[in-house]
Formats: sequence, C-alpha cells, structure tokens
Amino acid sequence: MLVIASALNCVTLNEKYSQVGIQLGGTKVERLPLTDRIASQRTALILEPACLGFCGEYYRRAQSSGCCKSYDCLLFELNKKHAEVQIMSDNWILIVPKSPKHIPLPDNAQASLEHLERLMPDADEIEIVQNEHVQLFDCGSNLETITCPRCSANIGFDWWGEAMSSDHDEKVGFQLKKYRLPCCSTAASLDELTYAFHQAFGCFALSAMNPNIGEISNDAVCKIAAILECEVSVVYQHI
Ligand SMILES: [Zn+2]
Repeated sequence: MLVIASALNCVTLNEKYSQVGIQLGGTKVERLPLTDRIASQRTALILEPACLGFCGEYYRRAQSSGCCKSYDCLLFELNKKHAEVQIMSDNWILIVPKSPKHIPLPDNAQASLEHLERLMPDADEIEIVQNEHVQLFDCGSNLETITCPRCSANIGFDWWGEAMSSDHDEKVGFQLKKYRLPCCSTAASLDELTYAFHQAFGCFALSAMNPNIGEISNDAVCKIAAILECEVSVVYQHI
C-alpha cells in the first residue's frame, strides 16, 4: 500500500491505484476513482475535479505550487517543498522471459509460481501476469537512466517517451520496431536500450508484491529460468 501523508491530509491508494481515499485532519471524507496511474517519477496524482472540493487547503497549496489543468483532470504534484509528504511505497519483483513474445507452458508457469511462493513466503501477493500483447514491466521510480547499448550515451526521457508512444499500438501492444537512436544513429528497439534499473518488455511475468527478501539470488533466478524453460531477467519495481 502507498500512503502519502502531510500535516493536513492523507491520501491512501490501494489495489494499484484503483481507488483513492482522501482524509482531511484524520477524517475520511470520500472515496474517489483515480483516473490514471501515478506518474511515478514525481509522485503526481491525477484526480477528478469533483473531488478537489474536499481538499481545501491542500488543493490551494497544490494550485499555488504549479497545479496544471489537463483534460478534465487536474494534475498536481506533491513534494516536500509544497507539503510535508511522507511516502511509504510498494515494491515488486518481476521475473520476465528475455524473449518479449515468449509465454511459458502453463504447467511450467504454475510450477514457477509455486516455487516463488516457497521462496518469498512473506510476499503480499504472488501472481502470474500474462497478456497476449507485449507490455512494459517497468521499474517505476527506480528508473534513473536510459542509455544507448552501443555508445552508452544518455538517452533523454523525452525522446524515449515519444518512441514509446509511437511504438505502442492499442491492438497489438508494443511492436518493438527499430528506431535510430539520437546519439550515434544505431538502430535499436526499445527493449534493446539499457535501463537502470532494468526494465523488460514481455507478455508474461511472475510478480511478487512486497516480497521482503531484498534482491533475489542468482541461484534462485537460474532455478526459475529452469522451471520456465527460458532465459529470464528480473525487474525491481518501486512505486
Ligand atoms: Zn549511441
């Protein structure tokens, strides 16, 4: 669970942002639909305008500190300058086949899930995430840099964001086409870029929420790869 709290308010998010409850002065006043996922880089919330009347001083502070209108939503950013914000966040370990379109056999997937449950008995939730289309298993706010796999130059988030938009098709997910990189004109697909922390494109992941084990050992990763009968990489997602 992610909790954002200040002296005046408390916003509680659960079930990966499906609903938001807002508290003022410790009294819960409303449950609200959240219209988009958190922009994890900046602890931004996107809330419907109707809810903002509840926020009083909190809203005024957000407005005076650069709140901007976007479609029918208001996006405002909280940081320590604008409000006394404490963040308790969630972590996931995601184990993703290296080949983006690969989906392991159902029996192997189930066996790997059971193995993970034994490996991470304290996890809040362990599940299989599977989609017929390629999606990004991102590292959330752990993402610090994106670099060129050939010349190691830094690749700007703006360039990457545009490439992500043009590569993503609503019907087929990410297409992973080759793009000329802005640094050295190398042709590379989005899954070939170097992300720190690592993130992966795929149709399948084993997902462990708040596994409470720190890093997963190489031996454990190899064991899971053997069960799944494919090479895998590990994404540490922090939101
Ligand atoms: Zn380059």
